Amino acid sequence: MANLLRSYVGGAFIATAGDPFDDLNPSDADDIVARVPAGNADDAAAAVRAAAQALPAWRDLPGPARAEHLHRWGEVIGSRAEELAQAMAREVGKPLGEARGEVARCSVILRYYAGEAVRAIGEVVPAQAAGVLQFTLRDPLGVVALITPWNFPLAIPLWKAAPALAFGNTVVLKPAEQSSHLAILLAETAEAAGLPAGAFNVVAGAGGTVGDALIRHPDVRAVSFTGSTTVGARVAQVCAERNVRYQTEMGGKNVAIVLADADLDLAARLTAAGAMRYAGQKCTATSRVVVARSVEDRFLAKLGAQVNALSLGPVTDAASAVGPLISSDARDRVRAALAAAGGERLAGGDAPSDARFARGFFVTPAIVRGVDPDAALAQDELFGPVLASFTAADLDEAVALANRSRYGLSATLFTRDLPSALAYIRRIHAGLVRVNGDTTGVDPHAPFGGMKASSSGSREQGSAAREFYTEIRTVQVVG
Ligand code: NAD
Repeated sequence: MANLLRSYVGGAFIATAGDPFDDLNPSDADDIVARVPAGNADDAAAAVRAAAQALPAWRDLPGPARAEHLHRWGEVIGSRAEELAQAMAREVGKPLGEARGEVARCSVILRYYAGEAVRAIGEVVPAQAAGVLQFTLRDPLGVVALITPWNFPLAIPLWKAAPALAFGNTVVLKPAEQSSHLAILLAETAEAAGLPAGAFNVVAGAGGTVGDALIRHPDVRAVSFTGSTTVGARVAQVCAERNVRYQTEMGGKNVAIVLADADLDLAARLTAAGAMRYAGQKCTATSRVVVARSVEDRFLAKLGAQVNALSLGPVTDAASAVGPLISSDARDRVRAALAAAGGERLAGGDAPSDARFARGFFVTPAIVRGVDPDAALAQDELFGPVLASFTAADLDEAVALANRSRYGLSATLFTRDLPSALAYIRRIHAGLVRVNGDTTGVDPHAPFGGMKASSSGSREQGSAAREFYTEIRTVQVVG
């Protein structure tokens, strides 16, 4: 029988209420990774209380001392890197190579924000009156709730928690149900690094109970959410009514544009990788490609070959690049969407027949062309290994098609023509804009977030994190 998960509250691993549900290995549903309790409002309240108790001492620690804690945390994660990567592959089906990359990134994130904790944190503003010293201070907000998705199960909690802590806030993390075991492993590393009890808390449980109670708790002063657009809209509404700061980073329908002059081999390789690696389960995954009509056939032939070259397999297979969907529901949703999509299926979309796939949630990578640009497959985030292909006569038509989406997270353009690249950069609706690159991935020290329905408009990471996790006060001292 798999372990019943405990939450990490006030520096101790404690029982959480509610009927548990099974957290399954998506490559092999016979493997129960953990049993996750549903939790209730009291569990959320206990975690907020612990964070509130820890706040004064943590806030008053000098920045360099907070930096030391974050450095140590990064070192502990580094020392357990392989175990964490294996656990990630098992719990959320992330192919091992990418899981190792995500764990390595966690240490980078902690090092970066350890640096932020010792940088200047205000500015001197000339005063109107003589003899007055005027300056700004950036203060922590207080107890911050972090609500995170399963697909980057360590990096996203950390790229929220690290800046929150660096700037003197204390944290309650509510991880996704499907990645709760990894969140508790993260708590173990925080404990081993000697973070003060209550500075970082993890409360496991269901979104509709524990998550909802957290965002409504009167002592929670800010909420950073990453997840689906539907849940994000509810989180934003609650926070706006409570007048607390929030950021919601949500879904995408990300696009690659391939112009006639592009390096078609590069475009095919990076479009295949962006669309299909990790079974398309990244918020920045490429789910649409718009190809110049004159090169469509050549490009699609190369794309098909690149997709075939990506190995689909259980993530215990080290060569696996695609991996399973997170759940049987996700697999069924993807297959139903493909069946209803119309258009011409060029590849994939089936359940693989080999026996080693029998107990996992697999779908073969699918490419579909000729779908109506306003149809569900072209407009809704599917979160699976599915790429819809369109054609356009020129850049203008391609950008118009790309922008015909309520989302605006990530986009890329393949071209060798500088004026085309510059025109696209000006006109594309996306928070992450690439030229000759993959739509996925972002440097951990660069601001990250989407436009339109992909985000509430603030950004995470880099200098943007300081804006979110601090509040400015203006001070005048009259001499
Ligand atoms: P989800 O919206 O189902 O869940 C996200 C989190 O919200 C989970 O922790 C869940 O328990 C919690 N939650 C659910 N209902 C809640 C409620 N009523 N109140 C408070 N919390 C609640 O998303 P998911 O399936 O875990 O993740 C996939 C989604 O995340 C995709 O849409 C993907 O695009 C998005 N995502 C976005 C980014 C980004 O940076 N833009 C990054 C990764 C994933």
